[in-house]
Amino acid sequence: MTIFWERCSICDKHRPIKQCWLHPERDVCSYCCIICPERDECPNPVWFTRVQIRVSAKRREEKARALEELLKRLGSS
Ligand SMILES: [Zn+2]
Repeated sequence: MTIFWERCSICDKHRPIKQCWLHPERDVCSYCCIICPERDECPNPVWFTRVQIRVSAKRREEKARALEELLKRLGSS
């Protein structure tokens, strides 16, 4: 899966974005995905899982690793 560095559909800033799972017409950055009010209902948040967020809030390094793992999983499925 490719991460694009483009304009986020939510915050309108240029950041790495991914296509939203719930709203495929939107491209979301990691920040907007994490704070998304619909995240609890989202079966597959494109930026990190819920458990990984808690970890990544503490350490940036772990956030990067979580993202790597997520991308690996997406790439192999
Ligand atoms: Zn955004």
